[in-house]
Amino acid sequence: MKAIVFYEQGEIDKLVYQDHPDPEINFAEILVKVGACAVNRLDLNARAYRPEIQVFPHILGSDIAGEVVGIGSEVDTVAIGDRVVLSPNIPCKQCRDCLNGDENLCDHQQLLGFQTHGGYAELVKAPAQNAIGISEQLSYPNAAALPIAYLTAWHMLVTRAAIKSDDDILILAAGSGVGSAGLQIAKLHGAKVFAASSTDEKLDYAKKIGADFVINYRETDFAEAVLELTDGRGVDVVFEHVGAATWDQSIASLAKNGRLVTCGATTGNIGEINIRKMYQKQITLLGSALGTITELRTIVSLADQGKMSPIIDSILPLVNAQESHQIMEKRENFGKICLIP
Ligand SMILES: [Zn+2]
Repeated sequence: MKAIVFYEQGEIDKLVYQDHPDPEINFAEILVKVGACAVNRLDLNARAYRPEIQVFPHILGSDIAGEVVGIGSEVDTVAIGDRVVLSPNIPCKQCRDCLNGDENLCDHQQLLGFQTHGGYAELVKAPAQNAIGISEQLSYPNAAALPIAYLTAWHMLVTRAAIKSDDDILILAAGSGVGSAGLQIAKLHGAKVFAASSTDEKLDYAKKIGADFVINYRETDFAEAVLELTDGRGVDVVFEHVGAATWDQSIASLAKNGRLVTCGATTGNIGEINIRKMYQKQITLLGSALGTITELRTIVSLADQGKMSPIIDSILPLVNAQESHQIMEKRENFGKICLIP
């Protein structure tokens, strides 16, 4: 098969398009002909430096949709010809967290395309239990856009922050994959959305997909803007994934009883908090890591019914994987970038 591989970590030019042996499946696995694979920031980090990448050449790609073209001898939940999207997390299914239904907390979990070969290829293998069926109505790029970004945003807002229709929600980096997913999910739940981003072009797009207020945080202190727009009250939920660079302003944007939920720290891991203000305002800090396959099934079903349509920035041929990383590195995308073999 053709695949994008890299033999050592480094810059974008390490990605090469070449022949690679087809994956061989075991009794419990399926072989999927990749219809589309979405690009994530994790791919860029894995290509550049993440120590989890141990075996070379490596094939990236965690967000995969396609057609089942092979099944293991004991697989009876999926059939050849099925259209599927793959849940990216491969948990151990045995530890305390897995048994509690928190497979996203499993210490032994592997992520497709990270600890295993992924979907920057014509074919990929995965455990059959990771396959979620999709209808003809849901295109492969739209399905591939869902797993990491939408699952992460869903787990943050719906499961962790328990958003309600009367919540005011501040979405940071609203143009990113997870940010645009968060915006859509917040609107789907009837909340009022304050979208923050670095360019007016992205903010115009955020408005188009439902943001009630937009804030350019290159030009203004977004906490001040939030307080002004809420008559000094602040927002009920801050959707964080930027980290150190925005932490202080994120905390300052919270209303009394506010919740800050975060899934990332792209700009740095360490942030301070004024403990007294925290307890006086009854602030809740919530960590959030990916999500579960049960949640992903709900998301896929909403997309299948047309109730949520993923934001796709661009669809590129697999051979242009370098370009996809370039767009993401420069943060030029609004929503997901998908690769098509
Ligand atoms: Zn486990």
